[in-house]
This record gives sequence, structure tokens and C-alpha cells, in this order.
Amino acid sequence: MTISVPVSGMKKDITIIGAGLVGSLLSIYLAKRGHRVSVFERRSDMRNEELSAGRSINLALSDRGLLALEKVGLAEEIKKICIPMHGRHIHNIDGSTAFQPYGKEGQYINSVSRGELNKRLMTIAEENGVGIFFNEKLEAINWKNESISFENTTGKQLPSSKADIIFGSDGAFSAARLQHQLQHDKFDYHQYYIDCGYKELSIPPTSEGDFALEPNALHIWPRKDYMLIALPNLDKTFTCTLFFPFEGELSFDKINTEEKVKQFFASNFADVVPLMPDYVNEFFANPTSSLVTVKCFPWVREDKFALIGDAAHALVPFFGQGMNCGFEDCRILDELIEKNGDNWHNILEQYQTLRKPDADAIADMAVYNFTEMRDKTANPKFLLQKKIEARLHEKYPDEWIPAYSQVTFSPQIRYSEALQRGQKQETIMQEVMGMPDIESKWESEEIEKIILERIKRR
Ligand SMILES: Cc1cc2nc3c(=O)[nH]c(=O)nc-3n(C[C@H](O)[C@H](O)[C@H](O)COP(=O)(O)OP(=O)(O)OC[C@H]3O[C@@H](n4cnc5c(N)ncnc54)[C@H](O)[C@@H]3O)c2cc1C
Repeated sequence: MTISVPVSGMKKDITIIGAGLVGSLLSIYLAKRGHRVSVFERRSDMRNEELSAGRSINLALSDRGLLALEKVGLAEEIKKICIPMHGRHIHNIDGSTAFQPYGKEGQYINSVSRGELNKRLMTIAEENGVGIFFNEKLEAINWKNESISFENTTGKQLPSSKADIIFGSDGAFSAARLQHQLQHDKFDYHQYYIDCGYKELSIPPTSEGDFALEPNALHIWPRKDYMLIALPNLDKTFTCTLFFPFEGELSFDKINTEEKVKQFFASNFADVVPLMPDYVNEFFANPTSSLVTVKCFPWVREDKFALIGDAAHALVPFFGQGMNCGFEDCRILDELIEKNGDNWHNILEQYQTLRKPDADAIADMAVYNFTEMRDKTANPKFLLQKKIEARLHEKYPDEWIPAYSQVTFSPQIRYSEALQRGQKQETIMQEVMGMPDIESKWESEEIEKIILERIKRR
């Protein structure tokens, strides 16, 4: 099968490897610009299949992702399959709970089913003329004669195909990236696993058919070295994710019998156990997955090839930004197409120059946020710090934007800028939190003056 024939002029034959969230959205952007777009996906068409257990993850979609969807007219449609989450609902080990708003009033993030979102994006892509070829696993890219070969996982034999431009959006373990790396001198590649893995569990609706927990929040059971979180689904279930060490005293390695699982949950997550009737079975039936950060460079090859989404920058999920960042890649790329017209060399070069520092920044912030979520969200001093920051943001919305708000609710601020501003603010807050009697004078003019004076210093 010949999939595409290069043509001259503005319209390009573009091949995208991977019909995940980012590949599907990218195909919509490119098809809307009039290019002929073919997407090759290793898996079969998920629209014809049930989601497999333990792989149903829901994701937090925030303003960067929404802005990218809005630019192709999809934000409102996608919001229909989202549940707003206005803050963190913290479940302490003593059974007490606390609500921490994510931002100012009216700001929220959105819980969305990864599978449902992916299916919608694929269907919208096809409605825009994109061809999606399933069961096509990228095998090799020959950079000399620019041919791409796939293995059809149903056993069909296909000849290799050609394209003007190739995008690798085939995820954290990208085969496209490997092809690029193997035939690229001085390719930088860094891959870091954290010592925690994750496992999905679920909370069904109550016997009355209602949500078993407050639906408009992201629930967290922070326990220092591990944590459980739960995000709501439209069918009134919650998907829970246990982030837990692979090894050590309390770990996937050691908690390995029904008895131990029951005991562990009873002592650490007592309030949620009655809501999860099947958690022991799920614990053993669902996979334990690892979490990786990937940084690499270069992302592009002349005017021919670029990595995008997780293939370029896999993040750990603790800032809820992997998909949002990948969607933002698509928006920025599209703005560069608008600016540079047919000059794909410039488009890809500028895309890499702009996005690489931002992806590196959010990758580092995501690792840092792991400690914050599991360890600090239950700490009174940390909560006071967040209160001071929220108050400052309320009073001086331009001078002080908490790092979380910069990343989550301020798509006009680049991730790299958010990292820098966040670090500066954190240094100031560490000084302030170390002041004697801060608990009693945090709302005083004196403290406010010190903070404002520090933030104005370059
Ligand atoms: C536990 C967890 C929670 C997360 N939570 C959030 C969150 O709250 N918010 C957020 O923004 N992000 C979150 N993320 C990150 C988010 O899931 C990813 O950033 C996002 O899925 C990346 O999309 P992608 O299209 O780049 O890659 P993927 O979603 O991985 O898609 C890649 C596609 O390429 C296909 N493929 C792979 N190899 C080949 C091949 N050789 N040939 C052809 N096709 C191939 C795959 O089958 C897949 O369909 C989370 C991730 C995890 C693990």
C-alpha cells in the first residue's frame, strides 16, 4: 500500500506516528491547515474495544490543554466530558479532611477519561480528513531515502511508505525517537525512573447511584512516602491511583499477600476502604506501572522530522501536565506554521528552540511536586505557606502568582518562566516561614512589606 505521495507547494503529506492524545490533536491542527495527514497507530481502534482493567486512567486537563483545544474549536465539546475539580480534598490519616482550593475562586482543573478523550479526538481527526491506520507499528525510518516501514500487527504485509514530514508522537518509549537517535550523531538522551510505581483501583457509585466522595475535587490521601489519589468519572465512579515504592518496608515488593494488603489499607486508608469493595482483587489483578522522565535533544531533523508530546518529553504525572504540555506543543507548532508559512526548516527549528527549555522545566517541576503532594499537603507549615501565597495572589495578582497557578492556570507564562519565578518565590517564602511567630503574624503588614520588597529585587 502506498500511503502518501509527496507534493509540491504548501500542502504537505504528513505522517504521524502514534494516535495517542497528542498525535490525534496534532493531526487535527495539521489537517485544518490543509495538509494531507496520515496517522499510524500500533494498537487496534480503541473505539471498538472495552478499556482493559487498570488502564482507564483519567487525567487532569487544565488551562494549557484547554487553550490548545480551543484554538481548533474543541474546548467546549471536550468540556462536556469533563468534571471540574476546584481543589485538593485532603484525607488525613486520623480521619480528618481539609479542602485546599487550587487557585482563585472560579479556577479549576478538569477530570477527563483518557480513553474517552482519545476516542473523541480520533473521530474529530477523521471528520477533518485525517486517515488513521491501526495495527501499524513503526519498525524503521530510513533517513537516506525517507521511507518509513511498519509492521502490521494483524500479519498483513505492507510496503514501506513515504512522507514530506514525519512527526513522532508515539509516547514515552517512542520507536520514532529511537530511529532518530540511532542515526544521529551526538544525540542526548536521559531517562530517569522514580522509585515509586503506581496501580489503579476504583470506587464504584453508592447503592443510591451517587458519587461516593465529593465529585468536584481531586482527593488525596498523603502518607509521606506514598499516596493514594482519586479523580471522579462521569459514570459516578472514581479512579484511584496508589503511588507506592517498588521496594522497601512498605512497598509493592513487600505488600504481597491478601492479608498484608488488607492490613496496609486498614491502617493507612481506613476511610476509603468501605468505598472500595473490590480493592484487594484489583490490587493483584491490575498492573503495577513505572513512572519515567525522558529528556532528549535534538527533537528535530532539518525540515523532515520532529518529536512531540511524550516522545519528546515524558513527565512524571505529579503536576498533571504531560498531556497539557503535549497539547501546548501542538498549539505552539501551529503558531510557528502561521508565522513561517511553508518554511518547515524554520518552523521545526523554532519549535525545538521554544519548547525544549519549557519541557525540561515542567519535567523538573513535576518531580519536585511528587514530594509536595505525598509529603507536604498534610503539613501545617506548608498549608500556612500556601495560605500566605494565596492571600498575596488575591491582593497582588500580577506581582505574586503561586507556582501551581502559573503552571496550571496561566498558559501565557512559559513553563521555564514559571520555574524561575517559582524558585524565586520559594526562596522568599522559606525566609518568611523561618521568621519567629509567623503563625500569628502572617497577615501583618510587616510580612507583606518584606515579601513585596523581596519580589521586586532582581
Ligand atoms: C498515571 C499517569 C497519570 C497522568 N496524569 C496526567 C494528568 O493528570 N494530566 C496530564 O496532562 N497528563 C497526565 N499524564 C501524562 C499523559 O498521560 C501523557 O503525557 C500523554 O498521554 C502523552 O500523550 P502522547 O500522545 O504523547 O503519548 P501516548 O498517550 O503514550 O500515546 C502514544 C501513542 O503511540 C502509540 N505507539 C507507541 N509505539 C508505537 C509504534 N512503534 N508505532 C505506532 N504507534 C505507536 C501508542 O499505542 C499510543 O497510542 C499522566 C500519565 C500517567 C502515567
